Amino acid sequence: MELNLSNFSGQTAAENQKHNRVLILGSGPAGLSAALYAARADLEPLVLTGMELGGQVSLTFAVDNYPGFPEGISGADLVERFQKQAERFGAIIEFDTATQVDLSKRPFKVQTYGATYLADAMIIASGANARHLDIPGEKELTGRGVSYCATCDAYFFKEKNVIVVGGGDSALEESLFLARFVQSVSIVHRRDELRAGAILQSEAKKNPKIKFFLNTVLTEITGTEAVTGVRMKNVITGEESQLPVDGVFVFVGHTPNTQLFEGQLELDPAGYIMSDTLMRTSVPGVFAAGEAADPHYRQVITSAGMGAAAAMQANHFLENAAREENEEVSYA
Ligand SMILES: Cc1cc2nc3c(=O)[nH]c(=O)nc-3n(C[C@H](O)[C@H](O)[C@H](O)COP(=O)(O)OP(=O)(O)OC[C@H]3O[C@@H](n4cnc5c(N)ncnc54)[C@H](O)[C@@H]3O)c2cc1C
Repeated sequence: MELNLSNFSGQTAAENQKHNRVLILGSGPAGLSAALYAARADLEPLVLTGMELGGQVSLTFAVDNYPGFPEGISGADLVERFQKQAERFGAIIEFDTATQVDLSKRPFKVQTYGATYLADAMIIASGANARHLDIPGEKELTGRGVSYCATCDAYFFKEKNVIVVGGGDSALEESLFLARFVQSVSIVHRRDELRAGAILQSEAKKNPKIKFFLNTVLTEITGTEAVTGVRMKNVITGEESQLPVDGVFVFVGHTPNTQLFEGQLELDPAGYIMSDTLMRTSVPGVFAAGEAADPHYRQVITSAGMGAAAAMQANHFLENAAREENEEVSYA
């Protein structure tokens, strides 16, 4: 009996195995900036977009902190420009998602739903996701008063009243930052004590603009065009209440999209890819950029910068590998 090696698209496994010098996983600011730099180094990079073309920022209506756009720009327009610029120099954008990787030897192997890709070097820019509250109103009002980034959005809430959800270091750091702009910050935390460090707690407690609702959860974010308020519930007494606010900032953690690399790359305890200042990971030839490797800055500009750096390092890696191969050939 003959084995049928065709996949669902009718191609054989061998036809569907594509070899690239540089494969970039992710089409957010880090992945597309890496693509631009790798393309300009003549490496014809291939970008696997994943499910979210353009990455997280494509969800936001206004990016006001990316230099070069004094009037601001929507996230979708910004990443579309990133993509066009990378394509202009030969980057190939493939609408596909990696489902499995093998980084144990070169060429590295990446399996997607429809193909197998081989790559001499890889840049992982698979990003992260802010954890959500999953309550009514959150999704509908994201970008209309619901935010996951004070650095990005505090400016829009000058003299307004906002809620911060969370009790860890980020929640308190971001609350202190927000307090410089807003009229009031109400921190809502589900437990009876905050998890943030003692110094941050004492600074927040001293700030007259910040107040606390402990043992409390949000049950709904209300508003149609924009956030107008929240419904809350005390988890001890069950008492329900409402608070009129203009914004809700959610800081209940981030999850890096790095599950694919468990056991293959060194990850920190939170799952971020461990990398050095040259974007190198624990596997030579595999570089990491953007939020998949950055629990600190989480911005378009920092992610883009990491992407550019990773591409320059990938180029350096390939040049050295080519030199070594040439030397071996001439030696032999
Ligand atoms: C609502 C919102 C508003 C924001 N506003 C601003 C702002 O105004 N200014 C600012 O500087 N920052 C802002 N940020 C933060 C900014 O979006 C991020 O810092 C930035 O997008 C991170 O870029 P990244 O490329 O590292 O990852 P991401 O943008 O997270 O992109 C990850 C990419 O990896 C892909 N991917 C994931 N898994 C796979 C896989 N298995 N195979 C292939 N691809 C995969 C995804 O499809 C995606 O394309 C905002 C974030 C949000 C959520």
